[in-house]
Amino acid sequence: ATNYPEWIWHNGEVMPWQNATVHVMAHALHYGSSVFEGIRSYVTPDGPAIFRLQDHLKRLFHSAKIYDMDMPFTQEQLSAACHEVIQRNGLEKAYLRPLAFRSLGGLSLSADCPTEVTVAAWEMGTYLGAEALENGIDACVSSWQRFAPNTIPAGAKAGGNYLSGQLVAREARRLGFGEGIALASTGLLSEGAGENIFLVFGKQMFTVPVSAAILNGITRDTLMKLARIDGIEVIERDMPREYLYLADEVFMCGTAAEITPIRSVDGKPVGTGKAGPVTRRMQELFFGLFDGRTADPEGWLEPV
Ligand code: PMP
Repeated sequence: ATNYPEWIWHNGEVMPWQNATVHVMAHALHYGSSVFEGIRSYVTPDGPAIFRLQDHLKRLFHSAKIYDMDMPFTQEQLSAACHEVIQRNGLEKAYLRPLAFRSLGGLSLSADCPTEVTVAAWEMGTYLGAEALENGIDACVSSWQRFAPNTIPAGAKAGGNYLSGQLVAREARRLGFGEGIALASTGLLSEGAGENIFLVFGKQMFTVPVSAAILNGITRDTLMKLARIDGIEVIERDMPREYLYLADEVFMCGTAAEITPIRSVDGKPVGTGKAGPVTRRMQELFFGLFDGRTADPEGWLEPV
């Protein structure tokens, strides 16, 4: 957020953005001990609506549970806070960032620091660039692997995990790519720095299972459900690196990245080098949720 909004929710109160500060000796700053979410609101014919807010908040509480982080607020309170920051700032297509972190209370690794909770929101368009959704991006396989199972839990969306994501993303940008894709410790495909991945062979969509050390993405889940309703077969299976070179289509998905086609991997064109028909269809179905062209099958849209 470079154009900061006026209001932020911090520890139970809405306050001016610049007042939500933290002490430099907070545990999270030293050890990455935070959990967070990334959520979007969209403009719909009925006004702004938050997409799958309750599913994101559930994941936040799951992340906190994995790290034994006390949550001083309930899901209902955080849900109300998300609505409030959108309303108070008059936002429409926005990105919401709930964050819970171990605060000031000692620097021992097992310190029971008080948890502070913040909910920020700001206007956000496309994440990987305005053209990316239309023309796709050039991706590379990272020289950095994802953390192995039973090291850092990939299923928790924790601050420290994003050291890995930063290595992957920064290497990719330095080499001139739009995004990096990491392999798992098995050497098989895992995910992008901040996105899950789908490969398309013919009319079938493939994505790796959660055992591939990925974040259990809510966009990934959304697309699997929308595809199946649309009669597109979705297969979860492990895949080797070279499938990226052989697929007819590859795309990334995530709350921030939405559905971004990948037009090349490691300099090799994917399919025709343009977004393919299945990728386009998934974009249509996904963005259709927000303008009403796609039926919302599970009440995913929560009007602000
Ligand atoms: N993987 C990682 C590492 C991510 O950071 C994200 C973004 N939260 C995703 C996948 C996609 O998850 P979601 O669709 O829930 O945003």
